[in-house]
Amino acid sequence: MNNNHDAEFDVIVVGGGPGGSTVATFVAMQGRRVLLLEKQAMPAYKIGESLLPATVHGICPMLGVSKAIQEANFMPKLGGTFRWGKGDKTWDFLFSVSSKMPGPTSTAYQVERMKFDTILLDNARKKGVDVREQHSVTDVLMEDGRVAGLVFTDDSGIVRRARARYVVDASGHQTSLARLSGERIYSKYFQNLALFGYFHGGGRLPAPNQGNIFCISFEHGWFWYIPLTDTLTSVGAVVAKELGSLLTNGHEATLNEFIRACPPVQRLLANATRVTSGPYGELRVRKDYSYSHTKFWVPGMVLVGDSACFIDPVFSSGVHLATYSALLAARSINTCLRNELDEQRCFSEFEARYRREYALFYDFLLAFYDLNNDLDSYFWHARRVTSSPEIGNRAFIDLVAGVAGSGENLYSSPEEFFRQREGLGKLLFPQSVDDGAGARKPIEPKGAEFYASLVSEVVQLQAQATLREQRPAETPLFPGGLVASPDGLHWREVASSQAAGSGTMGEKYDVGRL
Ligand code: FAD
Repeated sequence: MNNNHDAEFDVIVVGGGPGGSTVATFVAMQGRRVLLLEKQAMPAYKIGESLLPATVHGICPMLGVSKAIQEANFMPKLGGTFRWGKGDKTWDFLFSVSSKMPGPTSTAYQVERMKFDTILLDNARKKGVDVREQHSVTDVLMEDGRVAGLVFTDDSGIVRRARARYVVDASGHQTSLARLSGERIYSKYFQNLALFGYFHGGGRLPAPNQGNIFCISFEHGWFWYIPLTDTLTSVGAVVAKELGSLLTNGHEATLNEFIRACPPVQRLLANATRVTSGPYGELRVRKDYSYSHTKFWVPGMVLVGDSACFIDPVFSSGVHLATYSALLAARSINTCLRNELDEQRCFSEFEARYRREYALFYDFLLAFYDLNNDLDSYFWHARRVTSSPEIGNRAFIDLVAGVAGSGENLYSSPEEFFRQREGLGKLLFPQSVDDGAGARKPIEPKGAEFYASLVSEVVQLQAQATLREQRPAETPLFPGGLVASPDGLHWREVASSQAAGSGTMGEKYDVGRL
């Protein structure tokens, strides 16, 4: 890059996490000039290790990294195991319990993010993205009220500028660019703090659940216990933010105290030693991670992944939301670079769909946290709505899997693929939550239609990865909205006969609800 002249790109992506690599790859696959600036040298440590099938079987095949992911020997995750509530009962779900996710697509992975992120970033390079590590973005270039490029410091410490038609902020929770796109609003409900580290030699759940994420509630909050390899385990306590004051006793002492207060984790770690050197050697703390921005795009710039929003680690939604929003952003950018549709429409579609997906997980997690001390009530809710415990449990599994599990082996025809899922969302149950003063308040909008239409949107994504052109015609999610092109990488108008749109407008799920 010449120091005296601004370099020109179609798109510049800030951040080489899963969100950044995904959007950069999907734009470069259209033959566009894409620059990706990552401030760290990769591989670099990152939290967010438990994936959903939606990422593994939806996004990864579209990116062309399925083989590399398979060859990385990540820990297969068949589902999750919970001890959530007062009793000692442990219960688990396996993705494969769902008839919609049989065979090899019924799994996700627990990943060492240093390896996973590097696979996605290397793939971006292979697909033509100009990836620059140790390049830190410091500011934006504005022209006529539009973001028109970036200022960054390169790996030699030289300040440079580059221009592009679109900038993607995928720089995660520490973003400094998202301030241009409204305000970050923090959730009033999720005000937690996570304290986490790594252990060698921790115990494993009995087969076949040894690769599952294990979530255990205890007096102060809950623990995650994520087996990353046969010997390495990620262990984290999620507690109320106020308990942060305990950290003055030291991270080690505080984590040990939490472990003592949670016998199942204490037992699993009885013969384990904490990793104290290398990238896993630190005990880390994260807080203030449940938020959403008031706007997800401004002219010339779009936010994806954690720079836009994040909720909570409990159902492993982070990488899913990052890569899903990256796909939606890529569709908008690709369409606008071809001058096919109006920019406002393309990015409004992106934002509405992204907010919907975020809202689904947000409402679900509210309800899940609200289960707190009565495990049985969870199943009772499911039974009440479905009159069938078995179906209720399957619906739950489909949701936490991101309704993933794509693959032609799953259904005899594309029509059948969709038919099987019709009404799935009606089986999901969050109806009300504790209002904090001991009373119940309904979750708006109430369940059925909302979940049904949202679930079908995620199914579209999964089908996209496998069916491509054979995919049945998609109806817009919103009245007058857009649908994905057959390759899944653009937006397009629908024929008028399909243009009804059954969903609720994304604006309904604005940050005011948090
Ligand atoms: P990131 O992965 O954070 O990537 C952003 C990148 O941008 C980084 O590489 C950073 O170095 C780079 N960058 C930042 N600033 C600049 C700059 N100025 N210039 C250039 N580059 C820059 N998610 C899950 O799916 N499963 C889990 O089990 C899970 N557990 C979690 C536990 C905790 C405690 C927390 C807080 C989150 C968890 N998450 C989990 C969420 C997950 O970590 C994130 O959602 C995910 O990493 C978001 O991806 P991203 O690409 O948006 O951002």
